[in-house]
Amino acid sequence: MQALFSGLLMVVSGPSGVGKGTVCKLLCEMDANIVLSVSAATREPRPHEREGEHYYFLSRQEFLEKIAAGEFLEWAEVYGNFYGTLTCQVQKQLKAGKDVILEIDTQGAMQIRSACPDAVFVFIMPPSYGDLQNRLKGRAADSAQSISLRLSKSAEEMSQAKEYDYRIVNNTAEQTAEELLDLLNKEKCRRRKVRKDAE
Ligand code: 5GP
Repeated sequence: MQALFSGLLMVVSGPSGVGKGTVCKLLCEMDANIVLSVSAATREPRPHEREGEHYYFLSRQEFLEKIAAGEFLEWAEVYGNFYGTLTCQVQKQLKAGKDVILEIDTQGAMQIRSACPDAVFVFIMPPSYGDLQNRLKGRAADSAQSISLRLSKSAEEMSQAKEYDYRIVNNTAEQTAEELLDLLNKEKCRRRKVRKDAE
């Protein structure tokens, strides 16, 4: 899909609790042309989360209907809930020349690999497993059961890191966001050059 549009699509994954949400938010604040795609999800909203800003919160039935209607660019079941990227959302932003960030899990990222070969793939790593544990427990937004499910999945997610174009250790959110911005700008320059050479 992407080659026709001027914006860049960047896929960001990493284990739950690694801080990728904070990093992506900072990245969008650094450059008004970068937008974070809002996914659809069937999990319960956390206390601070708002409809259409953090997620489009759907029932499982509504989500299944959208799958059947072919509305998702990718979707996956993560920690017992469905999450998915709506194709129309991404297309609209890329067409407008925006750079779009998809903060999605590794299953969804591999679907984007086939659907959008032009996208850039970045995996955010924790400085250590202990750091990941502390962050998830400190977040206090999830139940004890959800925290242990997320931790038990982290090894599986980390094993997928090698499939990504870039891996960044999240020592501080500011530094990681800077690195992502740098990477995004370099990739845009590289694409412009490739396009020019092909003309
Ligand atoms: P959370 O429940 O913490 O907001 O997100 C749980 C996981 O779902 C995270 O790894 C997040 O990256 C992933 N996720 C969020 N939105 C999407 C999406 O649209 N597609 C996929 N495949 N994963 C998503």
